Amino acid sequence: MTPKIKVLILGGGYAGVTAATGLRAACRRHGRLSITLVNKHNYHYFTTLLHQCVGRRGYQDISVDLPSLLQPEINFRQGQAVALTPNENQVEIESEGTRHTLDYDYLVLALGWEPQFYNISGLEQHALVLKNLNMARIIKNRIEEQMALASEHPAETWRTQIIVGGGGFTGVEVAGELADWCPRLIDRYDLKSIGITLIEGAPAILPGFDGLLVKDATCLLQQKQINLITGARIERVEERCVALADGRRLEAGVIIWTGGVRGHPLVEASGFTVNKQGRAEVNSYLQSVDSPNVYVIGDCCLAKDADGKALPPTAQIAFQQGKSVAQNLQRVLTGKAPVPFTPKVLGTFLTLGRKDALGVMQNKYRFSGWTAKMMKHFIAYRYLWGIGGLGLPLRKFWERR
Ligand SMILES: Cc1cc2nc3c(=O)[nH]c(=O)nc-3n(C[C@H](O)[C@H](O)[C@H](O)COP(=O)(O)OP(=O)(O)OC[C@H]3O[C@@H](n4cnc5c(N)ncnc54)[C@H](O)[C@@H]3O)c2cc1C
Repeated sequence: MTPKIKVLILGGGYAGVTAATGLRAACRRHGRLSITLVNKHNYHYFTTLLHQCVGRRGYQDISVDLPSLLQPEINFRQGQAVALTPNENQVEIESEGTRHTLDYDYLVLALGWEPQFYNISGLEQHALVLKNLNMARIIKNRIEEQMALASEHPAETWRTQIIVGGGGFTGVEVAGELADWCPRLIDRYDLKSIGITLIEGAPAILPGFDGLLVKDATCLLQQKQINLITGARIERVEERCVALADGRRLEAGVIIWTGGVRGHPLVEASGFTVNKQGRAEVNSYLQSVDSPNVYVIGDCCLAKDADGKALPPTAQIAFQQGKSVAQNLQRVLTGKAPVPFTPKVLGTFLTLGRKDALGVMQNKYRFSGWTAKMMKHFIAYRYLWGIGGLGLPLRKFWERR
């Protein structure tokens, strides 16, 4: 019997899930193809909506069960990849305290990102990072706990202060969401007020975003009573204090860090050529420059646009890369030449709480308010359609009601 061709996908985020679901049809057509996706959790969560779970939304709303999404065509293994040996085409997986070795003919590395702490003293120890669904739960619980303690000890006003470090997309979305949640917390815990401070090192929030929309976002955050500190570098973080390089010290009960991401550490540790942010170098087909049977996609990949500029780590790029790898693997397996990956930056949308949103399409069409909010919903539902067919967005929409 001819042996099966094994494709192993590590990571069930936007990139890994899109690659896996894109190979579903190929799996049905070619009986010789065996595809396995390994992910730390047994669900796939929509990172682009994670900030909403810190405030208003339920965790179920933004996740989908991986076995039922992928099976029967794709095998699913819950576990954590702990070691890679590209020379031997092997990956070591840890699951419920036991280690297993999986081998592959083609590997798709889609392990995503880890926070970047830039050697800021105390940051990793004392700040919370909105990295996954469990961290959203932890942040929400920590805020509730501090507010309950502040209600118990009214003199400890620092407990009612929340600091968000990093004024990029994630930081702005988190701060906006928290501002909308605060009135309910104030009521629930009978507090006088809750303070939110957003700190950004660059001269303005949302570095690199459309200038007019940056102004709009700044106004919206100020209307929400968020204290914006820009052009200020965080020098040190202590248990309940953030020290800025200009000498200011800000006390807080909860410190959240959203200031930077780097590629998953396993990529660098496995000997792949990476840049300073730990993102692996790939060719135009998204194959690792070190091992052609390893594709690297999503936030752990350093792909470039036509001008040679590194692509930003975003869900839309991760999704497009997943699709491209699925198409190219099918082409390679049927003896056709692969097609280079061509990224399309369609648009960027962000929400600032329940009602406010902003965004830009094709770098020229600006949106705000209800239209921008609808666009963000549309992008999320279109993604669900892409990975699970029409039934998935309909089910998710129904569950939300
Ligand atoms: C709050 C927030 C808001 C965002 N908003 C937007 C937005 O509006 N638009 C946009 O385009 N981008 C947005 N982003 C960025 C976007 O979410 C990421 O670029 C995207 O998630 C990257 O996809 P990925 O598949 O590479 O990684 P991920 O989605 O992070 O997936 C990686 C997967 O690998 C799993 N994993 C990790 N380590 C292991 C291991 N050792 N073994 C097995 N599995 C493992 C993880 O559990 C996870 O499921 C946002 C990010 C955040 C945090």
